[in-house]
Amino acid sequence: MLDYLWLGPFIIIYATVLIFILGLLIGSFLNVCIYRIPLGQNIALDRSHCMKCGHVLKWYELIPLFSWLIQGGKCRSCKEKISIQYPLIELGNALSWMAVLFVWGFRPVTILYCACASVMIVISVIDERTQEINLGLNIFIGLLGIARVALDYRQWLYFVIGMFAVSLLFLIIVIASKERAMGLGDVYLMAGAGLLLGWKHILLAMVLGCTLGAIIHIIRMKVSKKGKQLAFGPYLCLGIYLTILFGNPIIRWYTSLIVH
Ligand SMILES: [Zn+2]
Repeated sequence: MLDYLWLGPFIIIYATVLIFILGLLIGSFLNVCIYRIPLGQNIALDRSHCMKCGHVLKWYELIPLFSWLIQGGKCRSCKEKISIQYPLIELGNALSWMAVLFVWGFRPVTILYCACASVMIVISVIDERTQEINLGLNIFIGLLGIARVALDYRQWLYFVIGMFAVSLLFLIIVIASKERAMGLGDVYLMAGAGLLLGWKHILLAMVLGCTLGAIIHIIRMKVSKKGKQLAFGPYLCLGIYLTILFGNPIIRWYTSLIVH
C-alpha cells in the first residue's frame, strides 16, 4: 500500500471506499451463491426473495448491510427473521478485500486474491454445511491461477509446481483413505490455489490450514460434544487466505533460518 502514496491521499481514499462498497455488493452476491449452489438453483436469473413469504425484494431492501440493519434483521413483508449470516458475509467479504488491498496495494494480483477470498467464503460456508466443495467454484480458483501464471509468466514453473505440490499428496490420502480423511474437493481446491500461489506458498497454506484446523476442531468438539466429521475446506481456505496476506514474510523468515 505504501508504494502507492504517489497517487495522493484523495485518490487512495476514494478508491478504497469504492472497493469497500464493491466488496459489500459482491458479498451480497456471495450470499445468493451460498444459498442457491447447494440447491442447484440458478445464481444469476431469479430475483431475490424472502425465503418464507416469497416477497420479492425491492432495490432498497437489497442494499448490503444497511437494509438488514434498517429492517432490524426482519423481512419487511412477513417479519420473518433474516439470518445475521447475510450482513456478516457482506461485511466479511468487504473486510477480507480491505486486508488484501492493504498488503498488496493497487496492482493486478490484488484482484485475483480478492476474487479468491470471495470464492473461498462461498466454499467454506457450503463445505461446512454440506461437506462438499462445488467443482465449479474450484475451477474458478484454477482460472485465477491461470491468470496469475499469465501475470508472472517468467516464474511459471513456480506456479505449475504449486498446482501439484499439495494436491498430489492430498490425492494419495484420498485414495488411501477411500475418501474418508478428505474429499476430491480438497484436492481440486489445493490444485487451483497452488497454481495461484506457487509451491512454497501452497505448502505453507497446507501447514497453516492443517494446524489451525486441528486446533479449532478439537476446541469445537470439546464445546459442542458432537460432530466427528471435519469439513476440511474452511480450514484450508483459512490457510490459503493467511498465506495470501502473510506468506511472503513467513517464507522469507523461514528460508533465512535454513540458510544461516
Ligand atoms: Zn417474508
